[in-house]
Amino acid sequence: MLALAGYPLGLRFRFLDPSPDAPTGQLADHICAKYADNEALDAFARGLAVVTYEFENVPVASARRLASRMPVHPDPRALDVAQDRLREKQFFQDLGIATAPFEPVASAAELDRAVERIGLPAVLKTRREGYDGKGQSVVHTRADAASAWTTLGDRQLILEGFVPFERELSVLAVRGRDGAVLTYPLVENEHRDGLLRRSLAPAPDLSTAVQATAETLVAQVVEALGYVGVIAIELFQVGETLLANEMAPRVHNSGHWTLEGAETSQFENHLRAILGLPLGATTARGYSAMMNLIGTLPDLAGLLAIPGAHVHLYGKAARPGRKLGHVTLVDGDRSRLVERLGEIERDFA
Ligand code: AMP
Repeated sequence: MLALAGYPLGLRFRFLDPSPDAPTGQLADHICAKYADNEALDAFARGLAVVTYEFENVPVASARRLASRMPVHPDPRALDVAQDRLREKQFFQDLGIATAPFEPVASAAELDRAVERIGLPAVLKTRREGYDGKGQSVVHTRADAASAWTTLGDRQLILEGFVPFERELSVLAVRGRDGAVLTYPLVENEHRDGLLRRSLAPAPDLSTAVQATAETLVAQVVEALGYVGVIAIELFQVGETLLANEMAPRVHNSGHWTLEGAETSQFENHLRAILGLPLGATTARGYSAMMNLIGTLPDLAGLLAIPGAHVHLYGKAARPGRKLGHVTLVDGDRSRLVERLGEIERDFA
């Protein structure tokens, strides 16, 4: 989607992806190698003007190797913070951004003490390499804690207090090389089985105070990191309070609605930012919904028969639990949008 946004601007792309059937191979030069393969990294970097990433588990050392010889945006420091849930939460707290209470856990005895301090229910998560709800377990009782410890294994973990949130939101912002920051309207997200199912933007029934709080916190984060590009921060809303859960130092699934629903998509703005070009307006064009197509490919003709539906398929083989594409809907009328979204969810979810 970055390449598709960049071609109209006259840009050219090369991708490094360890998967032989990465969708990027259909669009541009694809170097198929491990991210930590130094020789491949060097071949990849040859002749490039700028490097970016859209996967947060790219090894920090690889990003730093490239950053020592060419511009890499966002700065690999953002990867470093985002790859460790403990550092990430400490980073938020150091900036005065609220989070769930948390404690590091590296042994069964530490887990006991953390449960003591945080209380139950709580969520036990791996510090590294968890995504889409993988590598985590909700703990209701001390017996749950013991079995979660066994399941997640003898690893560096974090215990977080369970947040009784009203809803999940995300804030997306873009910061240019000159330090200009623009924020997209807040997005409401619904997850199922740890995967994002759908997003609504702008988030319905949102007070201006909550939007302002989100804008302030994302601005603090990008300033602190000297960040360049698009960032997403996932938030829990409890009343008028926002708690930061995690950040994604890249374009984000909850920003896919911007393809048709915003003046400038997150993909185009990310490219504009990393190239030092003027940023585009982040205003919404109406009400948007985005629904992920997960596991099985839908009937294309059926989907396209729904007025206003825009289908984006990623060219991936179908597999249970895999995000294969998404549909966006834009409408000037919120109730009509919700009606059409209901139709899509009923027939194609
Ligand atoms: P994460 O991998 O941290 O994004 O977590 C995946 C999903 O689990 C989130 O989108 C929430 O729905 C839920 N979740 C994660 N952490 C918590 C928490 N501390 N309290 C309540 N729900 C949580």
